Amino acid sequence: MSNWQELERRYFMHTVERTPVTLVRGEGAWVWDDEGRRYLDFVAGWAVNSLGHCHPAVAEALAEQARTLIQVSNQFYTIPQIQVAELLINHSCLDKVFFSNSGAEANEGAVKLARRYGQRHLNGAYEVITATGSFHGRTLAMVAATGQAKHQQPYHPLPAGFVNVAYNDVAAIKAATTDKTCAVMLEPVQGEGGVNLPDNDYLKQVREWCDQKGILLILDEIQTGGGRLGTLFGYEQYGVEPDVMTLAKGLGSGVPIGAILAKERANVFSPGEHGSTFGGNPLACAAAYATLKFVLDNDVVGNVRRVGQYFKDRLEELKTKYRFITEVRGRGLLLAMEFDRDIGAEVLKACLERGFLVNRVKPNALRFMPPLIIGRGEVDEAVDILDKALASIV
Ligand SMILES: *Cc1c(COP(=O)(O)O)cnc(C)c1O
Repeated sequence: MSNWQELERRYFMHTVERTPVTLVRGEGAWVWDDEGRRYLDFVAGWAVNSLGHCHPAVAEALAEQARTLIQVSNQFYTIPQIQVAELLINHSCLDKVFFSNSGAEANEGAVKLARRYGQRHLNGAYEVITATGSFHGRTLAMVAATGQAKHQQPYHPLPAGFVNVAYNDVAAIKAATTDKTCAVMLEPVQGEGGVNLPDNDYLKQVREWCDQKGILLILDEIQTGGGRLGTLFGYEQYGVEPDVMTLAKGLGSGVPIGAILAKERANVFSPGEHGSTFGGNPLACAAAYATLKFVLDNDVVGNVRRVGQYFKDRLEELKTKYRFITEVRGRGLLLAMEFDRDIGAEVLKACLERGFLVNRVKPNALRFMPPLIIGRGEVDEAVDILDKALASIV
């Protein structure tokens, strides 16, 4: 164990089971540890490093912005945030934006927006229906929104106003809707919950129900947005338009930034009702602008579709080879492999020893969320290592 890991143990709250490797440098889909070992990184900052590590477009935009203007608060107009806003609005179905610093914070703002909508248009309705297996963040309200006991149980009492119902079950949403309901909040594909895909018509039916009841559909695209599923936003794949959408993770290629986007009809904040000190600061927005611009100019989503399909096909090959693989699922470059028993940690370790970083999303499942710019060569390297790692398990 390196000295850094001993120091971490001494100083840090133990909130995460870290993979025992200290990373010091990254380039593209590769990272290096403090002993000079190289790893292929299919964790990518938890689906964050869209353009890989230290992409020149992002690094240069950051360096330039750092020399120019880093932060002046939202009391003033600044240019990078307006440039990012313009790209987001022009390339999505939404009309207005608000920037935050993280995903949970974006979701908090989206729920505040929905409550404000309820006050204005739905006789004070405030409840938000969310799904079991979802993940919406770590703040207290988002823990209440997150439909997983392991995230909620340690923190009771939870903030009121959230109802968790089964995912991929329109009837459950209908049954939970009351005159107190102001919104339904869902992930197009559940990420942290295990890469769970809904039926193709689920979101469409939820959309119709929300229209019928006059309540808002909030899509949490913090993990799926920005190209990860092979379209710029996940909703495009399901033929629906949300009233509100949240983004974060991949938006800044690793620099913290989140966003709430809303349709005009849900654009209900008045001055002073929401705000942020750091949200939309020039530095983060320079990274987000460079990222989005690169994604749009270089058909990165096309790459995600092609390489994602190739990767999925190769994982399916492994499934025919190893009987203990029960499922390969996902879209674009958000993929998972599930096992018939809890060997996720073992496989992760076997991959790590061979220079391949993956995420164990459940005790019996791995999640792959590589940079969106990887090619087939990197997929082949990943699959070869995974093959050897899986062979070492049996
Ligand atoms: C990661 C994630 C969040 C929380 O984002 P943070 O930046 O960690 O607060 C919320 N929703 C989804 C879908 C996520 O994947």
